[in-house]
Amino acid sequence: KLHNNIQELKGNIRVFCRVRPLLGDELGPDRDGDVHHMNFPDIDQKIIELEKLGDVSMNESTLAGHRRGNKYDFSFDRVFQPASTQKEVFEEISQLVQSALDGYNVCIFAYGQTGSGKTFTMQGPDLNDEEKVGMIPRSVAQIFQSVRELQTKGWQYDMEASFLEIYNETIRDLLSNGKEDKYEIKLHGPNSNEVTVTNLTLVNISSEDQINNLLARASDNRAVAETKCNEHSSRSHSVFRLKLTGNNKHTNEICQGTLNLVDLAGSERLKESGSEGQRLKETLCINKSLSNLGNVIMALANKDSHIPYRNSKLTYLLQNSLGGNSKTLMFVNVSPREENFQETLNSLRFATKVN
Ligand code: ADP
Ligand code: MG
Repeated sequence: KLHNNIQELKGNIRVFCRVRPLLGDELGPDRDGDVHHMNFPDIDQKIIELEKLGDVSMNESTLAGHRRGNKYDFSFDRVFQPASTQKEVFEEISQLVQSALDGYNVCIFAYGQTGSGKTFTMQGPDLNDEEKVGMIPRSVAQIFQSVRELQTKGWQYDMEASFLEIYNETIRDLLSNGKEDKYEIKLHGPNSNEVTVTNLTLVNISSEDQINNLLARASDNRAVAETKCNEHSSRSHSVFRLKLTGNNKHTNEICQGTLNLVDLAGSERLKESGSEGQRLKETLCINKSLSNLGNVIMALANKDSHIPYRNSKLTYLLQNSLGGNSKTLMFVNVSPREENFQETLNSLRFATKVN
């Protein structure tokens, strides 16, 4: 049933590291202090090396990442340097996106601290700037192009999009027209092999231009939430989902795949001590769901008999797209700034564990 020759992957999980460039003010007079702790020594672009300036505290774990003196090396399936373009990044994921048309369930995550480039990578900074648009619009464009090509072979595809957000373990519909409903995750089928969300807006996509309106609608919805809590978007996970159903009028074959593009909540360690009320709740929810995502991916890699999908909304929602006949890619986005050293190290360690 494969339309293209997918190169079989080593495992079903890959991790790509992307370092964002220094921006505006960060390029100021103290530029030296900011940049020279991050190196890319490997010509294969698979290794990232961090150098800690000054003293390295004794209690720093050396569990993940090879540490030599003040240097730490991490290796990933791919490391993207600050100068890499959205087009270059997309080229490395395009086969994976393509496999959703071949009936695979695909999950692409962006993990990293707030300000590290997750949203830039997934959505892009400006939907009207064609060069800078991110993985979501590029994926949709590629899918449209492939669907047109497959039509000549008798294939006809239905595309259904949804876009939601998980904030404090509560689902919000980013495509709703103002009405607030109750959204619950439902499992279908004898083997619980389909996951849906009750009341969620599903949009049939018939033309490529629709996607920009849809993404704009989602940003409007997010902006409304942001006025209530101005760090809303960095404290929530957003999941863009495209369900693709193909059927072939000559052979009667049917093919169903899903592409999930997930912009995760900021991974920065939030202090539980000192925070209370709403803030404490957010902290606990984010810590729990990100660590549970790591646990699920690790349990899948270890082929554990129990996979703790139900410990968080995010993994419950994505259970059909994690493990089994599915493919997962995680971007670990990091900042090149000296002051973000510890968070960068934490992110690279998390990503190493799941790789
Ligand atoms: P996050 O979603 O992880 O909080 P953002 O994607 O919003 O981070 O990125 C933070 C800032 O850095 C934004 O102003 C964004 O446009 C910029 N940025 C991130 N990655 C890049 C990149 N690769 N090239 C240029 N600017 C970037
Ligand atoms: Mg963001």
